[in-house]
Amino acid sequence: MAHLRRCSFCGRTEKEVEFLITGIDGNICNECADQAHQIVVENIKSKQSPALELEKLPKPTEIKAYLDQYVIGQDDAKKALSVAVYNHYKRLRDVANGGKDDVELEKSNIIMVGSTGTGKTLLAKTIAKLLVVPFTIVDATVLTEAGYVGEDVESLLSRLLQECDYDPKKAEQGIVFIDEIDKIARKSDNPSITRDVSGEGVQQALLKLLEGSVVNVPPYGGRKHPEQKFIQVDTKNILFICGGAFDGIERKIAQRLNTHVVGYGAVENTARVDKNNLMQYIAPMDLKSFGLIPEIVGRLPILTHLEPLDRTALRSILTEPKNSVIKQYIKLMEMDGVTLSFEEEALDYIVDKAVEYRLGARGLRSLVEAIMMDSMFEIPSSRKKTLKVTLDFAKKQLETANLAVLAQKEQ
Ligand code: ADP
Repeated sequence: MAHLRRCSFCGRTEKEVEFLITGIDGNICNECADQAHQIVVENIKSKQSPALELEKLPKPTEIKAYLDQYVIGQDDAKKALSVAVYNHYKRLRDVANGGKDDVELEKSNIIMVGSTGTGKTLLAKTIAKLLVVPFTIVDATVLTEAGYVGEDVESLLSRLLQECDYDPKKAEQGIVFIDEIDKIARKSDNPSITRDVSGEGVQQALLKLLEGSVVNVPPYGGRKHPEQKFIQVDTKNILFICGGAFDGIERKIAQRLNTHVVGYGAVENTARVDKNNLMQYIAPMDLKSFGLIPEIVGRLPILTHLEPLDRTALRSILTEPKNSVIKQYIKLMEMDGVTLSFEEEALDYIVDKAVEYRLGARGLRSLVEAIMMDSMFEIPSSRKKTLKVTLDFAKKQLETANLAVLAQKEQ
């Protein structure tokens, strides 16, 4: 009988196991390999020190440079985010070291205000790829006061727990991005006239998380801990980044600027105000006027804004980001062995249409999609090896597409 190979770890022969992996001086069976892998993972986990090594982490300028590859413009927001994330690491390190002196580093949650489609979520998603702490994006619109249909505010933390295998210690170092925070604003800034209970109740609940408290979190889909009802998470060190469009806040900003310009220096001030981009003058009191309770505004000390996207920005968004729409289509075609290119005039035309129909950055994709649809359908089964999208071609394709419908879809 031929000599049977054995696992050098458990001694079983190759017939007794599913398969053997053979090395220079021995073999390992699939089960022992599996076990060895688990030992390695456990070992690495136990060695990981909770203290972050700052020297190895990206500096604010490096974080911003990374964001620049994917997000066009929005320098203010990028800087604020980069600094906040870096300071978050510093604070975690200080906490892990036992905070040796009396100077306690407080966290600086952020709020980003900017019209829809200007890159708030994109910034959050992009920075997530760089982070070494758990991160989650949640939508404030699903939040309701406890007991109502919808999700309790604590559910924000369930998502964060899911990101780190239900380890509360890790979750407590995490970052939560709360999108559409403006949707929980009180409808009127005078609570005695219109009491929008749901909005304010949610804000009060959210405030507790922002301030830092120990919260009982129901682990969603708690398959891993069926016996465990709640996980306790301390939110003291969790960084919150909020984003919202705050539709109509320009009116509040304008009102404030107008009241302020009364008196000495008034003429000078009004002359300097850029009426087309009032968002740049946003101040915490505008958020209050919009309907965020003052306590929440106070817990979001870094207020930054996103610029509206003009024609130049849209043109850059079309081709420059690392995964721009155009680059994605070129890659799609490349997979069929087809070289795709776009004439400058065709690209400008796409931007023109996006501006004309107020489609914004989101609309760029729909426009390119409409232009490419027929080619995407036909080319894989044709022998064509190149496709150049000319201005005429783009015009012809878009004529058949119903732009008015597209415009509505993007609203
Ligand atoms: P919102 O501000 O509403 O969160 P998003 O970040 O979801 O907007 O932007 C929608 C899409 O528009 C993004 O997925 C991206 O393709 C594009 N986009 C918006 N702003 C930018 C930008 N500044 N740079 C690059 N792409 C952008």
